[in-house]
Amino acid sequence: MSDFEPKIVAFLCNWCAYAGADLAGVSRLKYPPNIVPIRVPCSGRVDPLFVVYALYSGADGVFIGACHPGDCHYVDGNIKAERRIRFLKSILRPFGLDERVGFFHISAAEGKKFAEVAREFTNHIRKLGPNPIRLSSVKVDEKRTTLCTLLLNLTETIEAKEGVYAVEEVPEGFGYPVMNPERCVGCGACATACDQDVITITDTGDVRKVGHYSCYCILCRKCEEICPRDAISVEEGFDLMAFIKREPAVDVELTMRKCTVCGRYFAPEVEIDLLEAENVCPDCRRKEIAKKLVEVWE
Ligand code: SF4
Ligand code: SF4
Repeated sequence: MSDFEPKIVAFLCNWCAYAGADLAGVSRLKYPPNIVPIRVPCSGRVDPLFVVYALYSGADGVFIGACHPGDCHYVDGNIKAERRIRFLKSILRPFGLDERVGFFHISAAEGKKFAEVAREFTNHIRKLGPNPIRLSSVKVDEKRTTLCTLLLNLTETIEAKEGVYAVEEVPEGFGYPVMNPERCVGCGACATACDQDVITITDTGDVRKVGHYSCYCILCRKCEEICPRDAISVEEGFDLMAFIKREPAVDVELTMRKCTVCGRYFAPEVEIDLLEAENVCPDCRRKEIAKKLVEVWE
C-alpha cells in the first residue's frame, strides 16, 4: 500500500530519548511526522499494557525510547523496561504483532540518533502495512482494561489459534508448579503457603481438584518446601493461553470421602487412608468434642 502512512506512538523517557527528540528538533534534523511522542518519567514506567492498548486502539507501531544501560536516572528502570518489552514482544509474536514494537536506547545528546531511529522505524512499519487490528474495525469496550482481556480480544480479532508458545524469551521470575498425581494427597498445604494464589484446591462433590494458574507464580518455591509428600515441583516458563483464559490447569483429581456422621464429602480418600483417620469431617469432630466438654463440665 504505497500511500499508507503509519501512526506510531513513541513512549520517550524524559531524561534521555525525549531530550534527544528535543535536540533533534532544535538541531533542525528532520524526522517523520508519523511519530506521536508521549513523555514518560522513565522507560520503566511503560507498562506493557500501554503498548498493547496502543496497538489495540489502532497504532501501527509503538516504540519505547530509553536511556543507555547504566545511565538510568532511577538506576535500572531501563533494564526492567527492556526485559518487559522483550517479554511482551514474545507474547505478541503468535499474533504477528511483535515486529510492530521497538525498543531503543537513545541518550539526551543523541538527537541525530533519535531522528535516524524515527525514520528507520517509520519505514519498517510502512513496509509492514497497517495494523491488522485497525483494519478489523473492532469496537473497543472501555471496560476492558486489563492486559488479559486485551490479549483475549487480540486473539479473537486476528483469529489466532491456540498453539504452542515458545518460552525461550520468558524472563526470569515466571514459573508454574507441577503436582505429581501419584504422590499428591490433596492436603492443600501448598495452596496455603502460596502468597500469590497460584495453587487452586476445588471441591466439586466427590472430587477434589488440585490445580494452578500458570502465570502468577513468582518461583518462590514455598509450595515445594511445605509439601509433605514431595509431590510438587516448580518449573520456569509461561503459558500464554492459560494467562489469556485465566483458567487454572488441573494437575490432580482425587476422590473424596463422605463423613459418616453428616454425609458430606470432606477430604480426599487417599489422605484419610494415609493418616488412618476416622471418616468424620472436622465440623462433626468439633461438635463431638463440644458435646464431650459439656458432659465433663456437667
Ligand atoms: S502438592 Fe503436596 S502440599 Fe499440595 S496438595 Fe498435593 S500433597 Fe498437599
Ligand atoms: S513457587 Fe511460590 S508463587 Fe509459585 S506456586 Fe509455589 S508458592 Fe506459589
